[in-house]
Amino acid sequence: MSQDRFYYFDNNATTRVAPEVADAMIPFLRDGWANPSSAYRIANEVHKAVENARAQAATLIKADPKEVIFTSCGTESNNAAIHSALVTQPGKRHVITTSVEHSANINYAEFLRRQGYEVTLLPVESDGSLDIHLLEKSIRPDTAIVSAMLANNETGVLFPIEEIAALCRSKGVLCHTDAVQTPGKLDLDVKSLGVDFLSLSAHKIYAPKGIGLLYVKRRTRFQPYVIGGHQERGRRGGTENVPHIIGFGKAAELACHHFKSEYARVRKLRDRLEQEILRQIPNTFVNGDRENRLPNTSNIAFEFVEAEAVLMLLDQVGICASSGSACTTGSLDPSHVLMAMGLTPMRARGCVRFSLGIYNTDEDVDYLIRHLPPIIQKLRDISPLNPSHPDNQNYDVESARAKHEQDLAEAARKQDEQAISA
Ligand code: PLP
Repeated sequence: MSQDRFYYFDNNATTRVAPEVADAMIPFLRDGWANPSSAYRIANEVHKAVENARAQAATLIKADPKEVIFTSCGTESNNAAIHSALVTQPGKRHVITTSVEHSANINYAEFLRRQGYEVTLLPVESDGSLDIHLLEKSIRPDTAIVSAMLANNETGVLFPIEEIAALCRSKGVLCHTDAVQTPGKLDLDVKSLGVDFLSLSAHKIYAPKGIGLLYVKRRTRFQPYVIGGHQERGRRGGTENVPHIIGFGKAAELACHHFKSEYARVRKLRDRLEQEILRQIPNTFVNGDRENRLPNTSNIAFEFVEAEAVLMLLDQVGICASSGSACTTGSLDPSHVLMAMGLTPMRARGCVRFSLGIYNTDEDVDYLIRHLPPIIQKLRDISPLNPSHPDNQNYDVESARAKHEQDLAEAARKQDEQAISA
């Protein structure tokens, strides 16, 4: 691994493992390797450590530890919640989710459609918010579950989950929320949220990848998604991933502390970064509601440039950011989240997400603010999409844009064809 200094602004994609988390895990890689389900003393100690981690994770969301199921990731948690709602209510074959969910939901919804289920993908407003009245109108007698994210991973925009869950309760519909981006940034309380299911993923909170959690409200009927042994009180088969569970527990404990001590500072850093970008670089816009969003996320549209080029030049000076979800990196399609908010494909392709975390400093923000404006300027100087460029005075910029759109659509089509044939 390269050990060069880098400036990390992609904490919504993943976070580094906190040293405290790694320290908590190591004894369970070296010594505490017994199977927690076995009957002897050394296994019993491991079992107790797993239950302690469950209690730490439950405290983070103010749940009862019995309501916490460890899974392999946020994606599994989302899939498992929707799967359970459908299997335990076989007469209900309609699922509602939103058009801006993570691919963990969007692609599972597509899969369900292919299986003959009906899926409603709710649209959003131009600021990324959800129209609750539209949700109300979309609920049908055969709706099994509404799954809506608490915070969007690309824009940070928050959905009113308390209201959504209350509406679902009044209609006898189960409610799931993907809260993967929120621990440490919001004060999480499953009782006041009122949801039946909630998903988390450890790698967004300074623990390793490959471990997640699904909260299942007490007395909610649940059908396991991974069927096997009696682990997780019969709700998820598979021998527990003990070191990762221990890491998740420690990270959950730290996240409770981060909420109180860190995120006011992170918000200030994010706000300074955003204000300076808007001040120094013309033709830039923030995507999404600027008030009702996570304190660490800023998604910015830079007109007349391609985000992929911006990211490449940022990378050359050691800055890590992204153009959306890490799960769609490499795709030529513009972000489905930004498209759902009504951005044109052209503008959506010029958007960069900066997501900060507890390890970001003022120095990081200074470094970014120093390097970004000349990078955008350099790209705009050579951009055929830039109407103020002297070479572009005499030709039709709109046709150039349309041609560029066509080229990208063609490239995306070829990429899809290759993916299908691979
Ligand atoms: N949901 C959201 C909002 C996410 O941001 C992510 C990860 O980027 C996931 C779900 C998927 O989590 P995991 O990578 O643990 O499967």
